[in-house]
Amino acid sequence: MKPRETRVPWRGWALALLWTCSPVLAADFQAGVARVKITPPTPFWMSGYAARTHPSEGVEQELWAKALALRDPGGHPVVLVTTDLIGLPRAISDEVAARVEARFRVERRQLVLSASHTHCGPAVRKNLAVLYDFSEDDRRRVDAYGAELVDRLVEVVGRALADLAPARLSVGHGAVGFAVNRREPTPAGVKIGVYPAGPVDHDVPVLKVTGKDGSLRAVLFGYACHNTTLGGDFYRIGGDYAGYAQAELEKAHPGATALFMTLCGGDQNPDPRGTLDLAVRHGGALAAEVGRVLSATLTPVRPPIRTALEVVSLDFAPHTRAVFEEEAKSPDVFRQRRARLMLAAYDAEKPVRQTPYPVQAVRFGRDLTLLALGGEPVVDYALRLKREFPGESLVVAGYCHDVMCYIPSRRVLQEGGYEAVDNTIYYGQPGPFTETVEDTIVAAVRRVTKAVGLEQGGASSAGGRP
Ligand SMILES: [Zn+2]
Repeated sequence: MKPRETRVPWRGWALALLWTCSPVLAADFQAGVARVKITPPTPFWMSGYAARTHPSEGVEQELWAKALALRDPGGHPVVLVTTDLIGLPRAISDEVAARVEARFRVERRQLVLSASHTHCGPAVRKNLAVLYDFSEDDRRRVDAYGAELVDRLVEVVGRALADLAPARLSVGHGAVGFAVNRREPTPAGVKIGVYPAGPVDHDVPVLKVTGKDGSLRAVLFGYACHNTTLGGDFYRIGGDYAGYAQAELEKAHPGATALFMTLCGGDQNPDPRGTLDLAVRHGGALAAEVGRVLSATLTPVRPPIRTALEVVSLDFAPHTRAVFEEEAKSPDVFRQRRARLMLAAYDAEKPVRQTPYPVQAVRFGRDLTLLALGGEPVVDYALRLKREFPGESLVVAGYCHDVMCYIPSRRVLQEGGYEAVDNTIYYGQPGPFTETVEDTIVAAVRRVTKAVGLEQGGASSAGGRP
């Protein structure tokens, strides 16, 4: 029972004192961590920028998949996996999840698979396939990397579960200011640029995991910003600012594992950007802020762990075959490739009308809720959901489970621009969503949060089915 729930005042005080004075007695969770290197063999085609013309030229920084396994006293687990990758396609996540469930009895709703969205990582098969015109050999190498990636992700989950040991969890929030809204209004419409007047979310949530002896075992942190400090002219493999932030924290806390999740940063870029020095500098600023939060007084996170996952359908705006017959004649090679994909779908009598979209909630007691959303959600989602759940320590992550395209809000859809329309060319999707997209996602969020005991408007329950 939690101190604040007790009805006997002196007993509440006694428990509160025990809590403060005795970390050994307060090990409510079991935690395990593991990491595995996922740096591709180089040279390898990189992902994120359509402008790149050749494969990588060496490794600036190793890439990692890391897993944090947590289990509450009732035996309910959650495993959070972070990767220094552009994005995981559904095909890879589904395969990993099926194997994890069969081997380790961790259900799909208890597994979070996320990507940092580094633009200096490898091409991941089926993600942003329109960017490439692979040779047979390229395709074989990308497929082989994808198959190996599945093995490595299953392995890292298994090793984190095998590492479970008593742990305490606590949460805090900081802020860092290098993310800027990139949707710049111009007379010709919204362009990717720098728009300091646009919405941002500078929140830096920090989950601290300490062992029985009080030592730091893991820190999970996030930020709503693209990992695009480095541009398409950079040809060395690396993790961008998130890679440097994680490395910096691990250097400052030997033996601890630092895990990064990208939050709702679809329309957020680092500012300034363009050089390796800046990527290191932004990573350093983020690591310093996480370090400051780690050394502050944090809020204890208590059991139980509850999880819920729903896959909803998002509707694309109506289209006809003629649209893509016309687009196939475009001088733009990326439009030609998208058109070919769409015409093939029409040929198979399965025109692409919708995409599946994962919405997941992970809640720890009444202390912390993680929403793990698919795709590249714009910052409006985090800002709206934080307003709708006041008083809750809420973390809204994007880039989880399946990165199928950008996820605009209704506002961004109405304004147009890359995050609303043009990104769908590179993602091989038919075009923009209908204006129902935001309401469909928020309705699904309300259902999964309710399933984990969090009601809209701040009311909440600690009971229910874990
Ligand atoms: Zn992106």
